[in-house]
Amino acid sequence: MKNPNVVILGAGYGGLMTTVKLQKSLGVNEANITLVNKNDYHYQSTWLHETAAGTIHHDQTRIPIKDVVNMSKVNFVQDTVVEIKPEEKKVKLENSELDYDILVIGLGFEPATFGIPGLEENAFMINDINSSRLIREHLEHNFAMYHNEEEKNPARLNIVVGGGGFTGIEFVGELANRIPELCEEYDIDKAQVRIINVEGAPTVLPGFDPELVEYAMNSLESRGVEFITGALLKEAKPDSIVYEKDGKQVEIPTMTTVWAAGVRANSIVEKSGFKHNRGKIEVRKDMRAPEYDDVFVVGDCALIWNPEGDRPYPPTAQIAIQQSDTVAHNVKALVQGHSELEHFEFNSLGTLASLGHNDAVGIIMNNRKIFGWKATFMKKMSDNRYLLKLGGIGLMLKKGKFNFFY
Ligand code: FAD
Repeated sequence: MKNPNVVILGAGYGGLMTTVKLQKSLGVNEANITLVNKNDYHYQSTWLHETAAGTIHHDQTRIPIKDVVNMSKVNFVQDTVVEIKPEEKKVKLENSELDYDILVIGLGFEPATFGIPGLEENAFMINDINSSRLIREHLEHNFAMYHNEEEKNPARLNIVVGGGGFTGIEFVGELANRIPELCEEYDIDKAQVRIINVEGAPTVLPGFDPELVEYAMNSLESRGVEFITGALLKEAKPDSIVYEKDGKQVEIPTMTTVWAAGVRANSIVEKSGFKHNRGKIEVRKDMRAPEYDDVFVVGDCALIWNPEGDRPYPPTAQIAIQQSDTVAHNVKALVQGHSELEHFEFNSLGTLASLGHNDAVGIIMNNRKIFGWKATFMKKMSDNRYLLKLGGIGLMLKKGKFNFFY
């Protein structure tokens, strides 16, 4: 009998961890495992704000797939998924087509701009290595240009970040560390640079513990970040943004608007005709798509309701990694002919937000609040734990974060 084809789409947290687990638990005579990804590397999306600010190099953020995937057990295809055809059990790629018996969708997120005029054309987004590297280069270019123009242009030194959620706050934290270095390098007075965070809700980090929100804002303001809360971004132009607050529209000159206020699941899910809830597949307890017994979904493309509230779990790397355990277990069960599948249960390990390389806030086990170096230490340890799980001690030592008190 022919081995079943197991095809995994996307080498993000969910897809890559599923692949690494399956390559260990399934023999080459049991299944043909294929992993498809746009690039020949995996990137840690949770470090992209650092890559974008230029506080870490993009090579620390990305990991060659061949370093963690055993190419003699897994067929790696570097290509872009165009469409999934679940009725035909096929996946259309830019350069070929694949047949599957079991599919795992782990295609992650893409930015959501909610139709705000000019955002797509004029704002930068922190999506992947390319977009983050572009932001770093763009910041540097503007600083370099500043003294090369006869008329000094403040728009070059105003940086506007749309969104005060976790991504926006983590990014302004990195900028607060990076800007003094850029000022020194390009002979620019720090007082001339503005880092402005615009948030629609009355406070940043909406829904987070108020005491920690206050700590975060104080820490960032003391390092030069300005907050404009209760303000809606109305338009992004090439050299300014317009926001509305208390019924008044205000324009800020800027050549750097970074939109960090919204993500959605990869639109391929919707385009491929899956039943979805705002672009995500509301998975069954065993992580399968409701209408297909042979399609699993992992990470940001999957939607799971929090039984303790009336909201779905937010899309995080933490939940994607935990889901990969269930998905890998259940794929293996199907391959081996078992029909009883495991149910996914989320075990929250807490929430941590960095405020730059030496400050952070968070809530860990038993709702304990932490901030400052302790929170930084915990965040870096959690990043290192992921690397250890993914590629063992060698990978952790090569790519991990060990500058705990710097
Ligand atoms: P991803 O990790 O996004 O991976 C998707 C993969 O699919 C990528 O390799 C991509 O290249 C590939 N892909 C996409 N489209 C195609 C295609 N058409 N064809 C082929 N390949 C494709 N979460 C936390 O838990 N903690 C944090 O501190 C945290 N911080 C964050 C900071 C930032 C700046 C951002 C942007 C996100 C952060 N998140 C955090 C959220 C977290 O990164 C995501 O929830 C997580 O990456 C989702 O994992 P995933 O496996 O679904 O997809």
